[in-house]
Amino acid sequence: MSGKRLTLARGIRFRCRQCGDCCRSFPVTLSPSEAERYEARDWSALGILGPVVRWRREGGANVPRLARKRDGSCRFLAEDGLCEVHRNFGEAEKPLACRLYPYVFSAGEAQTVASGHFSCSSVAAGDGVPLTSQRKQLHVFEQERSAQGVILPLAERLEFTTNLSYTPVEVGSVLDLVAKELEDSSRAFPERILAVAKFLSLVGESRFPSLVAKSAPKALKGFADGVHEKVGRGILVAPTATPLPQRLLFRSLIAFAARRDPASLHDAGFVVRGMRRLGNLIAGITFFAGTGRVQPIGSPRAVAVGDVRRRAPIADPAAPIADGALTRYFLAQITGRFLYRSTFSLSGVLPALGLLIRQYPLILLMARAACLAREGTELSREDYAAALRTADWTFGRLPLDRGIRGAVFRSALSDVEAGLAFVPWCAGEVAEQPKLESKASAS
Ligand code: SF4
Repeated sequence: MSGKRLTLARGIRFRCRQCGDCCRSFPVTLSPSEAERYEARDWSALGILGPVVRWRREGGANVPRLARKRDGSCRFLAEDGLCEVHRNFGEAEKPLACRLYPYVFSAGEAQTVASGHFSCSSVAAGDGVPLTSQRKQLHVFEQERSAQGVILPLAERLEFTTNLSYTPVEVGSVLDLVAKELEDSSRAFPERILAVAKFLSLVGESRFPSLVAKSAPKALKGFADGVHEKVGRGILVAPTATPLPQRLLFRSLIAFAARRDPASLHDAGFVVRGMRRLGNLIAGITFFAGTGRVQPIGSPRAVAVGDVRRRAPIADPAAPIADGALTRYFLAQITGRFLYRSTFSLSGVLPALGLLIRQYPLILLMARAACLAREGTELSREDYAAALRTADWTFGRLPLDRGIRGAVFRSALSDVEAGLAFVPWCAGEVAEQPKLESKASAS
């Protein structure tokens, strides 16, 4: 048992829709005892023959996972979309990974933070029961996870940006001010996210040796209050021009979101994985050429990015449906301490927040793509849900940290404000991508 306080992320609601999407999409990693139990059992009465556990070599260890069918869905997923383990033996018999989804836990200092994955259709649509009404169940899950050693302790110091690191408490003080801004319902989302981006830029530039000692807390609050007021008075505005590397980075992020790996790849061999990587490379090139296609999760078909920009209804981020979806998503990620998760693959607090803010324009583009895919004339709540699912699924698991490419990404993402320049391009308010930064404005 961890004995830690359990803090709940804000903006999360969930009630299982029994859609089976998670069973079609995610690999189910088992604990050693679960693997033993599932391997020892005779499943033939359910019509399931052959091995139900597959072992894969990962990070120098053999990791057991539930076997999957050819289409990538779990072997226990029935034709009617229900789980055969659950139906025949009850929920408690399912692996912990299945029972946990879509809940997610982040390690804190003296607390564990519970949140929810927006890749789940219920969480993304914002329907169901708020986390506060599920506290008891979440406590049980948290204890079970701790007993299995799945919640890894948080590092003592987190890299904030190049050659600058802070303790989790210090990073938490920044995130709390971000959450306060996001929760200010007197303003529309575009103003709030602009204030957040400006605030984070100031924190990065200030390079305080500590964020909790001496005058730093007062300075942080001063930054937050200052940008809040200046954004409200129209003194601070979002950038409209971006240097070429930022445009290339943004195109890459669209390509990542469009080329999600299929579930069948989880069990695929070396050759199939190699072919997929080659396909990703070709798809990436098509995006740079401006001809890529996107298919938000839950959408009936893929649509060309060019068509989305020309033909899809405009996305107004200040409209109530958009504002509600965006606020829930960003508030949940910040208060859910997404960057404390052991599975989050991008080290560096500022780059991680830069990636989060770039999801804002991408969500608008994906919502428009979802609307176009269903031939809609107005963006709906479900279009935004499809966009949130796509963003969370893509950016919660991007292996951006590897090698030279990782260093380039981290550096470009540290410019948190640059992502806001793509909002008009994605929302459909202007015809062209943001202008290239001129020498005069760059200096
Ligand atoms: S065991 Fe059941 S709940 Fe878990 S992935 Fe398979 S079908 Fe879904």
